[in-house]
Amino acid sequence: MVFLCYIYKVLPMTSSLNKVSEKTNLLGYDLAHMKAFFTKIGEKPFRAVQVLKWIHQFGADDFSQMTNVSQDLRKKLSDIAEIRPPEIIAEQKASDGTIKWLMHLEGGNSIETVFIPEDNRGTLCVSSQVGCALDCGFCSTAKQGFNRNLTSSEIIAQLWVANRALNPLAQAEHGKVQDSKNRVITNVVLMGMGEPLLNFDNVVEAIHLMLEDHAYGLSKRRVTLSTAGVVPALKRLREECDVSLAISLHAPNDEIRNKIVPLNKKYPIKELLEACQHYFSGDTKKKQFTIEYVMLAGINDSEKNARELASLLKKLPCKINLIPFNPFPNSEFDCSKMQTINRFKDILYKAGYVAVIRKTRGEDIDAACGQLAGKVKDKSRRIKIVKAE
Ligand code: SAH
Repeated sequence: MVFLCYIYKVLPMTSSLNKVSEKTNLLGYDLAHMKAFFTKIGEKPFRAVQVLKWIHQFGADDFSQMTNVSQDLRKKLSDIAEIRPPEIIAEQKASDGTIKWLMHLEGGNSIETVFIPEDNRGTLCVSSQVGCALDCGFCSTAKQGFNRNLTSSEIIAQLWVANRALNPLAQAEHGKVQDSKNRVITNVVLMGMGEPLLNFDNVVEAIHLMLEDHAYGLSKRRVTLSTAGVVPALKRLREECDVSLAISLHAPNDEIRNKIVPLNKKYPIKELLEACQHYFSGDTKKKQFTIEYVMLAGINDSEKNARELASLLKKLPCKINLIPFNPFPNSEFDCSKMQTINRFKDILYKAGYVAVIRKTRGEDIDAACGQLAGKVKDKSRRIKIVKAE
C-alpha cells in the first residue's frame, strides 16, 4: 500500500479579496488588445510589447517595476490600469509532486489550477469556466452545475500564477526569461473545469497569450484544448488558433455517448469526427489529435466496444488516451478493472492505434480529472452554483 501525503498551505489573504476595481485590468490583454489600449490612451503601440513582456515573462504586477518604461507613463498607467490576478487562497502539493492552486475570483467563486511535473515536461491544467453546463454523468464538475465563464485574465492568470510560483527567478532577477530549454511549464492543457469552446472569445484571447512570443511563447503543439465536441466552435477555432485538440469521446457509438455526454444529442459522433478531420485538413504540420476515453465499468469497456472504437476511428490521425474513471461521492459509475482496461488497450493496439492508459496524478489532493474544485473547505467561498438550463 502506498501512503500518500501532502502539504496544505493556506496563504495569507489580503484586503483586495472582495474589492471591486474600476481600473482596467491588463492581465488578460493579448498583443492586439494591448496595442489598441495604448493607442486609445495616446501612447505608441510598441509599449504593448514592453508591458506584455513585463507582465508575462517577468511576472510583474506593478507598473513601477517596468524600468524601461518612462516614469511619466508608469504613473499614468498606475492611475488608470492594473495587473490584477485572482487571490490565491491555498496551494497544495501532492506526494507525487503535483501542485494545485485554489484561487478566489471576484463575485465569490473559486477555481483550481493543477501543475503536473513529469520527467521530460511540466503540464499545467487550466480551467475555462466556473462549473460546467454539459452535465456529463461521470464528471464531478458537472454535478456542481454552471456558474459563469472565466474572463481572459482569469484564464491566463492561472498560467501567470503558476509560472511565478515555479520560476521565482524570473521575478527576482528581471531578465532571466525562460526560453524553451529551461521552461518549467512546457505544456498547457485546457482540461480543468468547464467546456472551453463554450467560452470561446475569452479562451482564444488567453491562448493568444500562451502562444505569443512576447508572453509565454509556447508552440501550438504544446497547448491542448480538450472539448466534449462543440462542433461549430471547432470550425472557428481552426481559423483563430489551431492548437492541439483532445476530444472527449468516451463512447464508440451514439447510443452510449448520448447517455454519458448529453452534448452528443446535439452534435453526434459522425459530425464531431468530421469536424476533427476538417480541423486537420490541408495542414501537414499537425500530426494527430487525442481521443479521450474514460473507462466506466459495464458501460463502455467491453471488448466489443474496443473493436467498435477501432473501426470508428479508422483513417483518423489520432491517438487514444484511456482514462481510468476517478470516482467521487454519489457518482453512479465504477472504474473498469485494470485487467479490462489493459484488454481494451491491447485490442486498440492490435488494430494499429497508439493507446495509452493515463496515469492518475495528484489523487491525494483531488487534482485528478473531473475532481476540480469539488471540496472547498471554507463554505463562505464555496462555488456558487446556478443550475444550467
Ligand atoms: N469540457 C472539456 C474539458 C474538461 S474535462 C471536455 O469535456 O473535454 C477534462 C477530461 O477529463 C475530459 O476528457 C473529461 O471527460 C474527463 N473527466 C471528467 N470527469 C472525469 C472523471 N471523474 N474521471 C475521469 N475522467 C474524467
